[in-house]
Amino acid sequence: MAVPFRKTSKTKKRLRRTHFKLQVPGMVACPNCGELKISHRICKECGQYKGKEVISK
Ligand SMILES: [Zn+2]
Repeated sequence: MAVPFRKTSKTKKRLRRTHFKLQVPGMVACPNCGELKISHRICKECGQYKGKEVISK
């Protein structure tokens, strides 16, 4: 069985984990109400998309 030649240092391990983000990418603030929403989807808080298009409520 192959074994890593060198132990991965604390720094190397931590640097790799800087890419693990808390939030899923693709979440943006709604330009109308500022609520966090999924991009290219209507805002569930105000029901708006691209400024004016009111789809719900
Ligand atoms: Zn909104």
